Amino acid sequence: MNFSFDHSFSRLPVAFFERVEPSSVSTPLLIRVNDELAEALGLDVARLLSGDGLMIFSGNRLPEDANPIAMAYSGHQFGGFSPRLGDGRAILLGEIVGRDGLRRDVQLKGAGPTPFSRRGDGRSALGPVLREYLVSEAMAALGVPTTRALAAVWSGDKVFREEMEPGGIFTRVASSHLRIGTFEYFSSRRDFDNLGILLDYTIQRHYPELADTENRAQALLLGVMERQASLIAQWMQFGFIHGVMNTDNMSISGETIDFGPCAFLDEYDPSKKFSFIDQQGRYAYGSQPMIAHWNLARLAEALLPLMATDEETAVTLAKETLESFPDLFREGHLKCMAGKIGISDGGELDWPLVNALLTLLKDQRIDFTLSFRYLRDVASGEEDAFLSLFPRPAPVSEWLTEWREHLRKCGVEAEAAATTMQKTNPVFIPRNHRVEEVIEAGKLGDFEPFHRLHEILRRPFEEQPESSEYEQAPKPHEVVRATYCGT
Ligand code: AMP
Ligand code: MG
Repeated sequence: MNFSFDHSFSRLPVAFFERVEPSSVSTPLLIRVNDELAEALGLDVARLLSGDGLMIFSGNRLPEDANPIAMAYSGHQFGGFSPRLGDGRAILLGEIVGRDGLRRDVQLKGAGPTPFSRRGDGRSALGPVLREYLVSEAMAALGVPTTRALAAVWSGDKVFREEMEPGGIFTRVASSHLRIGTFEYFSSRRDFDNLGILLDYTIQRHYPELADTENRAQALLLGVMERQASLIAQWMQFGFIHGVMNTDNMSISGETIDFGPCAFLDEYDPSKKFSFIDQQGRYAYGSQPMIAHWNLARLAEALLPLMATDEETAVTLAKETLESFPDLFREGHLKCMAGKIGISDGGELDWPLVNALLTLLKDQRIDFTLSFRYLRDVASGEEDAFLSLFPRPAPVSEWLTEWREHLRKCGVEAEAAATTMQKTNPVFIPRNHRVEEVIEAGKLGDFEPFHRLHEILRRPFEEQPESSEYEQAPKPHEVVRATYCGT
């Protein structure tokens, strides 16, 4: 089968990648193909479903026009620099220019070792495959920039993590796999020729509007900052915790990438983290904006040699540019949070009001998603569900009075507020305990819970009365306390 691949990345110099073929698996089974996405990419869906998909998405056969490679990159992991990470368990097959004219990478994850695998096996356990499929597609349905899921496969082979587990292969589609770590790779080797080639390539692929700017390295830094600021604001809006915001997991295109130990807030708590490997809470929910800024400073450092010939000038330019991040983030965050309380055009005034509600949620340990979901019902005249979330409702009633007063001052009718909130406050998110349920069943070969949850998450803002139990917060015994990368 032919995928009509183009190969702009693998036309770059050989320093950018290593050639590698996927290794076969024994008895693969196709769990799901994303037919809508396949269609949008211009792929022959019927053919994919009739056997070719299983062969290709398991890594057992390559599309005829594939040019499989593993990409080179570095990364700051939990603050420490690793000069050579690269795709240790991912293989890029090529790029497809879709029906919408956009170019996207198609990559297999877990299709066997590569020259970057170090001590890893190049494989993936099934659990992370199911998690990434569900959560990345849920993020897309929520309207958050993200990589997408094209297929999930049960490999038929076991992988060893804490114990023997069924293996899986995930097919990821991304605007590209360029990361902050890709720039760090060439910069740390002082390979400034290839760093310049990477800059040209990135601007052409993701920021064509910057092609004619005077200082393109500085303009790229600012462009990535804007996209990251907006992205993190959206994560905060939905209570998303990425979990491993290492610089190798921060996409230059501004998409959410790598869903390893990610999770969603149940109770609102800015210091909340789930990832087992994040013992210090470096990547906690409330730290994400600050960490994004830190990561962007690493991008700025990597770009210094291209910003000015004289180092002092370059550092000054980089610093000036980086300084605008807190404002960029605040602007996006304000817009998202104002929307959550029913105000569609933002405004500096909303902050104390939003913060007062967040403090109530935190002090009384209230579910983040449910509280905003029921706040919409308050605007529609139904107060009980919202108030009954709180063990101590008196201060919450007072807050509602202030909120109504604020809406009046802003000239927002209750009905308009409800409409705004319907678009900003989801009914369904991939709740951690539901994702765990899916993974546990999947390990036993039962994919019904996976398909069911996936179906619900396609319409996160719509009520689905037949699935109302999926709206609910976990019961005490269902609460997920830790997530694992499973790599
Ligand atoms: P991640 O935590 O997925 O962002 O991965 C960090 C680095 O570890 C990347 O260079 C990965 O390619 C590599 N890696 C993760 N899991 C494996 C594995 N099972 N085998 C080989 N390399 C891996
Ligand atoms: Mg990664």
